[in-house]
Amino acid sequence: MSLLVVGSVAFDSVETPFGQVEEVLGGSGTYFSTSASFFTDVSLVAVVGSDFPQEHLDFLRSREIDLRGLQTAAGKTFRWKGRYGFDLNEAHTLDTQLNVFEAFRPELPAGYESAEYVFLANIDPELQLDVLNQVKKPLLVACDTMNFWIEGKREALLKTLPHVDILIINEGETRQLAGEPNLVKAARSILAMGPKTLVVKRGEYGVIMFTEHSIFTVPAYPLETVFDPTGAGDTFAGGFMGYLASTRNLSEASIRQAIVFGCVMASFTVEDFSLNRLKRLEFDEVEERFRKFKLLTDFDGLA
Ligand code: AMP
Repeated sequence: MSLLVVGSVAFDSVETPFGQVEEVLGGSGTYFSTSASFFTDVSLVAVVGSDFPQEHLDFLRSREIDLRGLQTAAGKTFRWKGRYGFDLNEAHTLDTQLNVFEAFRPELPAGYESAEYVFLANIDPELQLDVLNQVKKPLLVACDTMNFWIEGKREALLKTLPHVDILIINEGETRQLAGEPNLVKAARSILAMGPKTLVVKRGEYGVIMFTEHSIFTVPAYPLETVFDPTGAGDTFAGGFMGYLASTRNLSEASIRQAIVFGCVMASFTVEDFSLNRLKRLEFDEVEERFRKFKLLTDFDGLA
């Protein structure tokens, strides 16, 4: 067992200035596991309702994602509805229906307890803790969350953070969690909550990583075609964790390289709605974009 993720599997309805889609495949666990599957074996723990179509399961299986931890419960699948304006960095949530997630209790199938890399994707922090309590001694635990849970389940989130090595959240959530407008100060106060590393996702401005002793930043890959930023953060995290699990190297250099792979993966997701771009993505394209990304940020030769 290499990489384990618990997260949402969803029907998303999304409106951007470039179009809109209704009840398409989405969810933090879905984007994460699909992205990670380009690098390593990944197991998904989540729940769907009886309305979840075979076609989506077939897609996840085609990516060789282990679905033994994906329960099907009577009721409706989780639904999220969001809108983006011309500033694609900010999602406006219009509706969240937890549905089968309300009564969900994750139960890890045999063997999952020895997972070495664990990602707690955006989901109720109580469920994140529940999964953490069932795994023995992971090498690395990373976690995402969002404003919905920072507001609604802050206590549970603060209980989870001491068990997390790397927290991966967006810029607004960083300020909200810390209660501090300055990003550097906010990062410092979040590192005091438990995580050793904080990775802040900044949409089209890229990513900035904070540890106690260092700061590392990369831009987002500049794209002409951006249709829908939904799932970019989870796709980033999937590339990031997938790369780390595949190399089994947790040095700072490896973590930096994982950040670039995460940005590369996210740059594909935003080129189309839902997981459509990831569905037609080949690993050659990932490598090619990684090379271009390196040139984009290379100023080694400059004095
Ligand atoms: P992001 O990568 O941040 O754009 O995440 C987008 C995904 O998060 C969407 O596919 C949604 O289905 C999912 N999502 C939105 N709100 C929640 C929530 N409260 N809990 C779990 N997943 C969510």
